[in-house]
Amino acid sequence: MQVQDGAEPEITHPTDVIVRVKRVGICGSDGGRWEWTNALLKQPHIGGHEYSGIVEAIGPEVSAKFPHLKVGTRVAGMPIDHCSVCALCRSGLSQHCAKRRVMGAHPTWPGAFAELVASDAKLLIPIPDELSFDRACTTEPAACSTWVGDRCEFFCGGSLKGKSGLIAGGGPIGFFALQDMIARGASKVVVTDADPNRLKSVEKAGGIALQVGPGVDVVAEVTKLLGGLADFSADCVGFTETRDQCGFATKPYHPSAWCGLHVDGPSPVAAGQYIRRGVVSVGVFAYTPAAYKLAGERLLSGTIGLPDSDVVCCGFDDGQKWFTRLFADKAPGKPAKVVLDPSL
Ligand SMILES: [Zn+2]
Ligand SMILES: [Zn+2]
Repeated sequence: MQVQDGAEPEITHPTDVIVRVKRVGICGSDGGRWEWTNALLKQPHIGGHEYSGIVEAIGPEVSAKFPHLKVGTRVAGMPIDHCSVCALCRSGLSQHCAKRRVMGAHPTWPGAFAELVASDAKLLIPIPDELSFDRACTTEPAACSTWVGDRCEFFCGGSLKGKSGLIAGGGPIGFFALQDMIARGASKVVVTDADPNRLKSVEKAGGIALQVGPGVDVVAEVTKLLGGLADFSADCVGFTETRDQCGFATKPYHPSAWCGLHVDGPSPVAAGQYIRRGVVSVGVFAYTPAAYKLAGERLLSGTIGLPDSDVVCCGFDDGQKWFTRLFADKAPGKPAKVVLDPSL
């Protein structure tokens, strides 16, 4: 990974907007691109998709079609482009659009680890002055968690009120999911993680912490902590092991939402056990525009948000160091989120 000068993004479509990036977060999914495991990408490639910034320039049709966007408007960027006209887009599930492109992950859309980035105007949400750029760039991961909470609620019959849950993984997605589920009325939520620092934040946020490690029977411990199996669960890690833990610690025919993508290829399913336990595993991908908007509102109201002490902000020059610390270093005590400021 290198910091280098490159061509500035240009307005190529009438509704394009150029955004000056103020903050861009490092996501777990950027780790795969850092390790260069994605065969579709060609170097040099610019990653980064969790960003906030200021509108720098607008295409000729933006003023008429998106009057809320002007040069100087503060924005949070939704990094999943979509066609807007297919049945999935029209039903609100644009993250499943066959034509979707994810900023910084798709070869034709350079990401926000840059001073300037191009986006279609429909993907930019204005943010009020009270929402800092630091918080606003976490709208994207928070939206993933909001959608997980939404799907758990949906598959729990439309309400999480008084229900108990399990979240595997206390990273940013799991942490935001905990806050979201509590906001939806969940009474008890166990969050598992190996990192004691993450679990301290979980407890402060009202969750029940369960440290995992060798010899810990997660399903038995969760059952003890909740007084029975969970009404719903969410795997925010993405190992076969955590997928199974969520499925097996949840009541028969109750949802086990899988959003973690650590193992992105085949992940063996213990089918006999899934059948006998009545496991309902639900793939939950990214977020709808409505979930993105709700995440932004909750960040603004303070209902959700990473603790300031868990967020590190630095310049691009320190980026390589932080990628190594986040993705190659096994030692615990990592910050929940590293946010880059291109001006530093
Ligand atoms: Zn992300
Ligand atoms: Zn579409």
